Amino acid sequence: MPGVSARRAGAVRGGAAAPDGGFADEAALAAAWAAAPPGTLRLADGRALRVVFPGVAGDGTGPDFRAAILEVDGDLVRGDVELHLRHSGWFAHGHDRDPAYAGVALHVVAGDDLGLPSTVHAAGRRIPLLVLAAPPAAPGAMFVPPCAFARAADIDVAGRLRRMGLRRLRMKANRAALLCAGRPAGDVLLGLAAGALLGPAARAGTERAAANLRLDVLLEEVGGLAGEARRTALGAALRRILPVDAAAPGGRVRPAATPAQRLGDLARLIDRWWPPGAGPGWPAALAPGAGWRAAAVEGVGRAAAVEVMANAVIPAALAAGRWSEAEAETAWAALPSPGTYGKLRPLERWLGGREARPFASAGLLQGGLLLQADYCAKGRCGRCPLSPPG
Ligand code: SF4
Repeated sequence: MPGVSARRAGAVRGGAAAPDGGFADEAALAAAWAAAPPGTLRLADGRALRVVFPGVAGDGTGPDFRAAILEVDGDLVRGDVELHLRHSGWFAHGHDRDPAYAGVALHVVAGDDLGLPSTVHAAGRRIPLLVLAAPPAAPGAMFVPPCAFARAADIDVAGRLRRMGLRRLRMKANRAALLCAGRPAGDVLLGLAAGALLGPAARAGTERAAANLRLDVLLEEVGGLAGEARRTALGAALRRILPVDAAAPGGRVRPAATPAQRLGDLARLIDRWWPPGAGPGWPAALAPGAGWRAAAVEGVGRAAAVEVMANAVIPAALAAGRWSEAEAETAWAALPSPGTYGKLRPLERWLGGREARPFASAGLLQGGLLLQADYCAKGRCGRCPLSPPG
């Protein structure tokens, strides 16, 4: 996130450090890492570390940076990098039990509140730990990124965010199209909806497991049932098929958003989209023009329903040819905002000013996520679509 061009990561040391190490938030830590801290750093276990390439910012479904290149005591290492303000964040987010994090090559923290020389994963690996601290900002120096002046420079902020949001929709649709190869559209939709409901921490594992999920078999299993009995049977079948325990994100999760709860929500969604007697094809309830309410059931409120539409229904409908480009774009533009993500808060402040809400719709928010991942997290202030020229 922003701040990177104004201050480089400073003192780097092993062992215990003040929690949060001077970083305002995880986005600031990510920005410092994305700028590839220079020189020889010191891992918590004492070995020397040099950052050759910090990696590419992840898409939120796994480690924070992918395919980094590091030099550890003279040996080149390639792999993913995960960041947390505190060492304990690794465990609080359940990464120690998540197979998606088994290949992490480096854990970067701002503060080591556990006092350990490395980070452990249940697969048995000890992951090198780097405690990275930011130097205190010079008195009076407060970083203001170029995008804070975008409106004053007559840049069409909403228009550019909207176009980036549409680009993100196409990326999601392309991914759905790959999943659609040789599989019924209903199965792909169900897998994506499961990933959307369970959230980023569980998405990759759930979608992988959902690749084996057969909607026709599932519907046949609950054939003859209706109402609550059918929804209960669907929930039991989903719990058997999907890896709820492996997918559990751990840490503080609202009771309404635990994986087990979310599988119950998914069962209600299936019951709505494929009611008794319906075949396993594309749901009639999701005809072109369907809005977020088509994904709302008991337990799935507006924010979660919007996430399901943005990450599952619209991309799958586009990929499977159920909706035209124009129909998908219209539905995308009509989605309300599900609420800002924590990592977008600084951007929201800089872009918003007093009167404007830059992420007032889901499409604008998705544009913001792409902007953040492709530019802010890589320290590309001055070279992003919202930097005034000159
Ligand atoms: S990369 Fe662009 S949008 Fe992001 S903080 Fe910098 S100037 Fe703002």
